[in-house]
Amino acid sequence: MLKLRLFQCAVIVLVAASSLAAQPRRKPAASRNRTIANIVREIDARNIEATIRKLVSFGTRNTLSEQNDPKRGIGAARDWLYAEFLKAAEASQGRMTVEKQSYEQQKAQRVPQPTIITNVVATLKGSQPESTDRIYVVSGHYDSMCNTPVDAKCDAPGANDDASGTAAVLEMARVMAKYEFEATIVFMAVAGEEQSLLGSTHFAEQAKQKNWNVGAMLTNDIVGNTLGGNGVRDRGTVRVFSEGVPSNETPAEATTRRSVGGENDSASRQLARFIKEIGDANVPQFKVMLVYRRDRYGRGGDHIPFLERGYPAVRFTEVNEDFRHQHQNVRVENGVQFGDLPEFVDFAYVANVARVNASSLAALALAPSRPHGVMIITARLSNDTDLRWEANKEPDLAGYEIVWRDTTSAVWTNSKAVGNVTSFTMKGMSKDNYFFGVRAIDRDGNRSPVTYPRPQGRPQPSPTPSTGF
Ligand SMILES: [Zn+2]
Repeated sequence: MLKLRLFQCAVIVLVAASSLAAQPRRKPAASRNRTIANIVREIDARNIEATIRKLVSFGTRNTLSEQNDPKRGIGAARDWLYAEFLKAAEASQGRMTVEKQSYEQQKAQRVPQPTIITNVVATLKGSQPESTDRIYVVSGHYDSMCNTPVDAKCDAPGANDDASGTAAVLEMARVMAKYEFEATIVFMAVAGEEQSLLGSTHFAEQAKQKNWNVGAMLTNDIVGNTLGGNGVRDRGTVRVFSEGVPSNETPAEATTRRSVGGENDSASRQLARFIKEIGDANVPQFKVMLVYRRDRYGRGGDHIPFLERGYPAVRFTEVNEDFRHQHQNVRVENGVQFGDLPEFVDFAYVANVARVNASSLAALALAPSRPHGVMIITARLSNDTDLRWEANKEPDLAGYEIVWRDTTSAVWTNSKAVGNVTSFTMKGMSKDNYFFGVRAIDRDGNRSPVTYPRPQGRPQPSPTPSTGF
């Protein structure tokens, strides 16, 4: 009897396995194309080194430092960056514009007197009319600090924090300006990060006020040190931090999440998974390490103001930090060199971080928008999964793919092309047993990030089976 039961179980398992095998089980294909390959090849560690050394040469870039001295202080760095972005824009034939975005910050906790904050912003306009208002932002912060954020006089070289991120962004602008993308890319060097994310908050708030369609934001902050304070050398990995529960989640969304999950499926987490797929495929010697949290303990970055306003955003940071070289006065203590000096930056590593960023940005801006209005239909109790979404508007759209994974899986594991439709039923696959998502694909095979569905409709009460508890 026992034997028979085991046999029956085995048959059931086999049937279940074969019905799954009938579905196309393959890893979602990553986008590789010639434009991305060229961009990855053209990014040059020597330019990144030159930028970092130049930014360090301004002595300090503290947000409260001198704004009108041509040699020392944040004003000199601002003007130099502006000129460099203008040079980069020359290759764009008028498609890239550069501006200084300034505002006066009133007195605040880390701002003892009213201070002008200036972001240097280079915008490479998208060429497809249906996509040009879709914006992807990449940033680094060019301000720096030593022990305290309100010391405007001390030397604050900020080679890693964050000349490294700023140099990566400038190099991306230089390389990408001559290529054409369907959507718009904004390359940005912000100020006031160490004063509480002031420059990025200003940009994100402007974007919200003007109702800009920011499809993704990538911040690069502390992306140049490869020998950790723990003695570990890792030149081949970068961390990408993404939040799980959205910073702007509404009470109604929280109720849904508690009921059916989704804490691992924010738009930012879909963006992070997209970056890993694209980065690992296009920069194969270099790995993206996904970290499923908004940021490190006790730290924050320029992605946060974007998250708080509902824009998908992630943070890039090296794997092993050395805190002797962050936010420190330059000094030698007991034979140990403190300070954020260029000798502790691995320029080739920064170039690889820039390559992952640039390939991701290019893939985003070449691809259709992620699908909007994606719903999982819950109006009927069923062992199928009904999905519905709004049609994309790009003329080169080829169709959509459904992706799915086990609820315990950290990344998407399966995909199925379903054609140019706006609804699809995954027959025999219960929405209760998997997580599903939808992404758009164009005729060149460029895929959008995944959109995780919201539930639509309530199950109708029926006598059996019960929809209640
Ligand atoms: Zn920083």
